[in-house]
Amino acid sequence: MTRKKRLEKIIEIFRTEMPSPETELNYGSPYQLAVAVILSAQCTDVRVNKITPDLFKAFPEAKDLAAAEEVEIFEYIKSCSYPNSKTKNLRNMAIKLMKDFKGVFPEDPDDMQKLPGVGRKTAHVLGSVLYGQNVLAVDTHVHRVSVRIGLTPKAKNPVQVERGLVEIAPEDILHHLHHWLILHGRYTCKARKPQCKQCNITEYCSYFTKEQKKATK
Ligand code: SF4
Repeated sequence: MTRKKRLEKIIEIFRTEMPSPETELNYGSPYQLAVAVILSAQCTDVRVNKITPDLFKAFPEAKDLAAAEEVEIFEYIKSCSYPNSKTKNLRNMAIKLMKDFKGVFPEDPDDMQKLPGVGRKTAHVLGSVLYGQNVLAVDTHVHRVSVRIGLTPKAKNPVQVERGLVEIAPEDILHHLHHWLILHGRYTCKARKPQCKQCNITEYCSYFTKEQKKATK
């Protein structure tokens, strides 16, 4: 079966299981989602959702964060990974958002990437979640799961995974595919130990097929 056909089958299953997959990050505006996504790098969504209620209460809008001192921001996010660099990025992101975009979060992923702390992955998450753009964000879960299943077997980095998936996926499904693969990676196809017994796409998974062959040798 081709990679394209396998992905088609997997999408059918994901679509039945999770018709409208969504981000697990809590937010109330584009600016707040940008903050949450920046905080979520190398950190769990659960941890970020514990941090953001107080953070957003203190700095509800970009202008509030732009006016804050780094030491104030740090206090709110210190339980997150890499709090020093994230503090700097968040403050600089807010300052640039105020200066160059009048505080309005841009819709164009290229413009988003002009903001400190916002790289390709973050811009694609924001573009797809906020504006329904057909772009694919590749994070650690999407990367691992795509390679493991065999959808992008030779991909060595996120850009190669993105290209490989975009090549075989229907364009209008890309924003859902990101969430499906993340959620599958987070709860089933876990990094250290994939839960193949609870997985319902085994039929289309290269890793599973290989493991089965090994076991019957
Ligand atoms: S069968 Fe196992 S390795 Fe394959 S996607 Fe499912 S959990 Fe991951």
